Amino acid sequence: MTDTPTPKEPGQLYIVSAPSGAGKTSLVSALLQRTDHIGVSVSHTTRAMRPGEENGVNYHFVAESEFEAMIARGEFFEHAWVFDRHYGTSRPAVETRLLAGEDVILEIDWQGAQQVREQRPDARSIFILPPSREALRFRLSSRGQDDAATIDRRMRDAISEMSHFDEFDYVVINDRFDEALEELSSIIRAERCRRARIQTTRGALLSELLSHEPPVE
Ligand code: 5GP
Repeated sequence: MTDTPTPKEPGQLYIVSAPSGAGKTSLVSALLQRTDHIGVSVSHTTRAMRPGEENGVNYHFVAESEFEAMIARGEFFEHAWVFDRHYGTSRPAVETRLLAGEDVILEIDWQGAQQVREQRPDARSIFILPPSREALRFRLSSRGQDDAATIDRRMRDAISEMSHFDEFDYVVINDRFDEALEELSSIIRAERCRRARIQTTRGALLSELLSHEPPVE
């Protein structure tokens, strides 16, 4: 007799967006460390690698011509022009992981979030906000010796990103890191307890519990 493999429930797709300076990347990496069966998608970008970044880990760094060829081949799930550079999510990479039952987080901007929602209305989206305007300005200026004009431009970009918070299902305010992480984890945990999901992931348990057959002694 051959074992019939149990069909796996596809993973849940999450979108996480934030203005830069809200702490999105640190929160997502802390979440991954404490949560099983969840991963983050590695985007493609045409921007230059920053010190400390690694190709294939932070991003797949590609030339403009390669990015455009990928668009032409329809390989992107979503892509957008952000801060004068291309960014995009590879469709096959995300679909393979979802089909294998892994939850996948897309750390993308509001434009990408809109494109994903159109194709996958079941995706859950989370927006991360800083605790105050002052804190945001401080976080955007604490990177080095930037002049006021550069910081003002970052603030304008951040405000423009934040103006889309109301398109998202959940909002997490990153004041105290541990509390924000707890809120983010709670969202994932709650999603995993949705009735529809339990019906597919715990089908055998439900049939056993609801069976009218007398219990086996
Ligand atoms: P950074 O260059 O600072 O890592 O990211 C700049 C912005 O690009 C962030 O707002 C980030 O969310 C966004 N971003 C990163 N990857 C993607 C992607 O694959 N698609 C879209 N639409 N935005 C992305």
